Amino acid sequence: METIQEVKTRVYKFGDKSADGDSTMRNLLGGKGANLAEMSKIGIPVPPGFTITTEVCTEYNELGKEAIIDIILEEVQQAVVNIEEIMGAKFGDKENPLLVSVRSGARVSMPGMMDTVLNLGLNDEVVLGLAKKTNNERFAWDSYRRFIQMYGSVVLGMKPKSKDDIDPFEEIIEHLKEKREITLDTDFTIQDLKDLVYDFKDAVKKRTGHSFPTDPWEQLWGAVIAVFNSWNGDRAVYYRNMHGYPADWGTAVNVQAMVYGNMGNNSGTGVCFTRDAATGENVFNGEYLINAQGEDVVAGVRTPQQVTKLGSERWAELAKISDEERIEKYPSLEELMPSIYKELYKYQEILEKHYRDMQDLEFTIQDGKLWILQTRNGKRTGAAMVKIAIDLLKSGIVDEKETLLRIEPNKLDELLHPVFDPQAIKRAKIIAQGLPASPGAATGQIVFFADEAKKFKNSILVRIETSPEDLEGMNIAKGILTARGGMTSHAAVVARGLGKCCISGAGALKIDYKEKTMMIEGKVYNEGDWISLNGTTGNIFDGKVATMEPELSGEFAELMDLSKKYQTMKVRTNADSPKDALIARSFGADGIGLTRTEHMFFEADRIKAMREMILAYTVKGRKVALETLLPMQRKDFEGIFRAMEGHPVTIRLLDPPLHEFVPHQLATQKELAEDMHISLEAVKLKVSELNEFNPMLGHRGCRLGNTYPEITEMQTRAIIEAALNIKKEGINTIPEIMVPLVGTVEEFALQEEIIRKTAQTVFEERNDTVEFLVGTMIEVPRAALTANKIAQKADFFSFGTNDLTQMVFGYSRDDAGKFLPIYLEKGILKSDPFEVLEQEGVGQLVKMGTERGRKTNPNLKVGICGEHGGEPRSVEFCFKTGMDYVSCSPFRVPIARIAAAQAAIKQSL
Ligand code: ADP
Ligand code: MG
Ligand code: MG
Repeated sequence: METIQEVKTRVYKFGDKSADGDSTMRNLLGGKGANLAEMSKIGIPVPPGFTITTEVCTEYNELGKEAIIDIILEEVQQAVVNIEEIMGAKFGDKENPLLVSVRSGARVSMPGMMDTVLNLGLNDEVVLGLAKKTNNERFAWDSYRRFIQMYGSVVLGMKPKSKDDIDPFEEIIEHLKEKREITLDTDFTIQDLKDLVYDFKDAVKKRTGHSFPTDPWEQLWGAVIAVFNSWNGDRAVYYRNMHGYPADWGTAVNVQAMVYGNMGNNSGTGVCFTRDAATGENVFNGEYLINAQGEDVVAGVRTPQQVTKLGSERWAELAKISDEERIEKYPSLEELMPSIYKELYKYQEILEKHYRDMQDLEFTIQDGKLWILQTRNGKRTGAAMVKIAIDLLKSGIVDEKETLLRIEPNKLDELLHPVFDPQAIKRAKIIAQGLPASPGAATGQIVFFADEAKKFKNSILVRIETSPEDLEGMNIAKGILTARGGMTSHAAVVARGLGKCCISGAGALKIDYKEKTMMIEGKVYNEGDWISLNGTTGNIFDGKVATMEPELSGEFAELMDLSKKYQTMKVRTNADSPKDALIARSFGADGIGLTRTEHMFFEADRIKAMREMILAYTVKGRKVALETLLPMQRKDFEGIFRAMEGHPVTIRLLDPPLHEFVPHQLATQKELAEDMHISLEAVKLKVSELNEFNPMLGHRGCRLGNTYPEITEMQTRAIIEAALNIKKEGINTIPEIMVPLVGTVEEFALQEEIIRKTAQTVFEERNDTVEFLVGTMIEVPRAALTANKIAQKADFFSFGTNDLTQMVFGYSRDDAGKFLPIYLEKGILKSDPFEVLEQEGVGQLVKMGTERGRKTNPNLKVGICGEHGGEPRSVEFCFKTGMDYVSCSPFRVPIARIAAAQAAIKQSL
């Protein structure tokens, strides 16, 4: 009987202007495989090959090596024959050998996260055949030593054992270079390369206990399985978790005929971008190396040359190299190989048009023939993302809806970050310069190892070059500085992806990892010393340089205007001060969703009055202290109402447990006792009385207002009086007074009564009125469950999903750090529920609360004010739930707005 398993295709061929797959099949073929198929179909010259699907990776994880090889053996053999026919060479043949690369490729691009093996199929006999066939002995041995090194590292686990340990193969290379007194790989003689092969194989035998495999098929299966395994390697897992990619996606494996950039001076390899990935400028650019292979360009071993003449001139200017020297030593591809350049230019145009987005290409020139090895939508900085999106929109390539859908909301964050203060930068001392690899301003303390980036709150990771292992530290550091590598080096590409400031290729830096020092023109910098980086210009400064808020105009403003056009749900902000309110307004916030009043009590003059209020043993005593606080609160509210110019403002009544306000140190306790003319003992007694076992579940929220109604009275009075005062200035504010931590309708009703009564009193005193709403936070599970009852009394609900998440999960937010990371690692949780609204459980209560509330009160206004209000996936959820608004911190407002527009567009499609 034939099972479904048997008819499923697991291997997809491509090459010679045809392919079994295409670009729509990225989930199955991975991004790289799908695009190789697509390029082949549209006539771009890609070396022929085949893709083993991502599903096979998942099958492998279940069944293991032997079983999976059994399942795909026949299909793979046929696909190899297909390559052999197209290339006119034979895999493993001693006279006319075909070599292949084995490349990983998940459905999303994870640059450098997984492994690739080049030149596979070589052994002691095949290498002789390759030398003879190509009439290039040097090339054949160069390929062989590269193969053993890559295979050894990727498949046989020959990697450095610790961070101070040097790569076992690099050690052998360095040793030989020293002996031969040379610095570049290209200076090796044929005999050197043969010696390397010998020494490499010897090292493999010594370290693994096995001889290096000589059978090409054994090599092939070894590499395929290693690629599958790399999906579960540490680097890949970290990257996946960081981006929230599930483990069951798996990776595809691409096996492809080798083309050789290391055949001599008429060969080379490079990478290029159809637009500038740092700024978004519409200029073709890239880097290449003559007589090089694979990762040589990004590895920063030799200084790469620019693809275009314009790029080359710009580069020389930054590197302070004269035009004569540039043309002689570092000519652009455009100048050196004009016809190859023209062809490359044509392909990049075709590919950008075809994919309708900025492309990132890999190419190799083999003895005067151009091959394209990869295309993908290029990683870019937040600024480039916005510029490219708007440019493509204006040129009619992409429509408005797609323009918005393509924006990664979280990446806007980069644009909103500080830049250097122009005054401070004038005074700052430039100590060196490198390439402006990823824009932004960073100031911090030097660390030399990625795993030490945590050492300082603001650290700058300084490396000779970075490698994929460094990802986590690069993510933590405020900025990255490397001594080697170009604009497409690992550090540069990853930093742009992370939106992190990066300067690469700062040749003046002499870094000593052992001593943990960096020397620039005689001056020594140690770990912990401050430096500043300008990733936009490549300037490196001594010490701290002041930063300021960026200016947002141009394409960013156009994008936000476009967003407004499609956004239906409102976006408010959480702001406790007029300053924050103004920032949020400038980002287009539609109002304030949460003003926390407690922050206002912490300022110097107020905390005293607050403490007196708390320490008072009688209602009268409390009222006296509250009298002092009233005018201060009123003034705060006036400032906020004024800043919001009539847009709605939600003010939450006092929420935190009172012990947060009292002094816990003896000295301050003494001071307070003197101020209040009471004994130190009395103060101490009160402080200990306020101590709670579980403050988060203790005497807080409306439990305060219901035990000390005079606090609610004072706060209501301050709000209403402020609104009346502002009304006189011509601004009509509708304050929304919000009662926190309600669990029963009675808790709310009692507060509501006080609020309305107090407001009425003020109206009578002033002989004037304002409109206002009284509502509640929904953050106790019981409130969501009984929302129908509460909504009969409340004008609005605002989901406080921080507390709600805490109580639904039973996780203390303050203690979750101990186990959440482990839960994420083990896959018990898919994401941090305090970061991304957990839809199945917490979300169910949010939905239920909204539905039940609206059932009894159809006019109920509903919003959210937890951290989740600025998280794109959560914003989409809120939209689907039918909320009127989300509210988030000022700098997340643009992000939430785009997410809201995207949610509306997705629904309309
Ligand atoms: P990554 O996903 O990390 O970019 P790739 O699979 O793209 O890894 O390959 C690493 C390097 O090897 C790239 O520079 C690529 O262009 C080069 N490469 C891969 N396959 C071949 C091939 N068949 N011929 C020549 N170079 C190749
Ligand atoms: Mg690649
Ligand atoms: Mg709360």
